[in-house]
Amino acid sequence: MRQSVLFPKTRKDAPKDAESINHQLLVRGGFIDQLMSGSWTLMPLGFRVVTKINQIIREEMNAIGGQEMLMPVLHPKSIWEETGRWEKAKEIMYQFKMKDKEYGLAFTHEEVVMDLLRKNIKSYQDLPIYVYHFSTKFRDEARARSGILRGREFMMKDLYSAHVSESDLMDYYNKVKDAYSKIFKRIGFDFRVTEASGGVFTDKHTHEFQVMADGGEDFIYYCDNCDWGENKEIFAGKEGEKCPKCKNGKVKGAKSIEVGNIFPLGTWFAERMRVYYADDKGLKKPVWFGSYGIGPTRVMGTLVEVGHDEKGIIWPKAVAPYEVHLVELSGAKNAKKIYEELTQKGIEVLWDDREVGAGEKFADADLIGIPSRLVVSERNGDKIEWKERTSEKTELLSLDEIISKLES
Ligand SMILES: [Zn+2]
Repeated sequence: MRQSVLFPKTRKDAPKDAESINHQLLVRGGFIDQLMSGSWTLMPLGFRVVTKINQIIREEMNAIGGQEMLMPVLHPKSIWEETGRWEKAKEIMYQFKMKDKEYGLAFTHEEVVMDLLRKNIKSYQDLPIYVYHFSTKFRDEARARSGILRGREFMMKDLYSAHVSESDLMDYYNKVKDAYSKIFKRIGFDFRVTEASGGVFTDKHTHEFQVMADGGEDFIYYCDNCDWGENKEIFAGKEGEKCPKCKNGKVKGAKSIEVGNIFPLGTWFAERMRVYYADDKGLKKPVWFGSYGIGPTRVMGTLVEVGHDEKGIIWPKAVAPYEVHLVELSGAKNAKKIYEELTQKGIEVLWDDREVGAGEKFADADLIGIPSRLVVSERNGDKIEWKERTSEKTELLSLDEIISKLES
């Protein structure tokens, strides 16, 4: 991609109302644009990052048997009335009337999946079912001020599973828990899995995936020795105490951002929406159900909250918009050839071919935050200067050396 035609240009200053780091840096770098509070466009660079996040999620969902589909976002009031959630969701759900009919914009899809199940499930042989989709969700957030972390319209991956029994549900629930851990490891997060109470749906605990971040709105307690963690709402102890699980480590507290959550919902939905199957003796039983969410746009915002310095964003390699930022300084003769050779090797390159000064180019490279920077200039001749975003060290290398470094 040639930077001279990339839309939009970077900005020197953050918008005046931008309070959070992700808002400031993602707008300045040209990744996102705010239409109104809580409503964002993913610009081409931002869309590339989210697409890569989605692909990691997709691979891990498919690996545990998930089947991808796409459900509607516009729902009739009637389906939400079946579970009594139309009234309950009034504060957060966009609900409106058009030509005498009432509709809601989805913030989740349990009711729709339940409707699909009752149309298609007859016996225990039809279960289990694992389906997921990536779609826009709507939520009328009272406080939509944390940049892209908290949108009124945002992207969600939600997975739903349906089972014959509680034990089958919990087996799969633990598989999803492992898959989520794989996803967040691949993305590069320092995260904790914390327990939270199940609320009205289940006596079981639910789990949240929390990334430690100074800019976070959540607060978690975790052990400095084992994998124990709980969120603030349910933990009765305090920092410095002995860990309730391993009895060895100390309880610590940290601000955090929730990037994923998983819920064993039991039979609450099936009982209200009459989703039954016949077991092997022909007896009618309610379907056991679970739902599992990750917000990819929130993941992007979180990556910026935990990956930045005073100059700009630092993307992890797995989800960076490009692998390489090729910076062409005036007088360089070989930039086009290098760009073409790297691209032919399947390496994703943003080529800064703009006619602006070196200082501006370097500042933009730091702001955009692509992991590897290559500088070609008259002074360097046939050699190319290699620098990683996380280091001040530069090296002069040949193109072959650079290709083998990138491919390793
Ligand atoms: Zn512990």
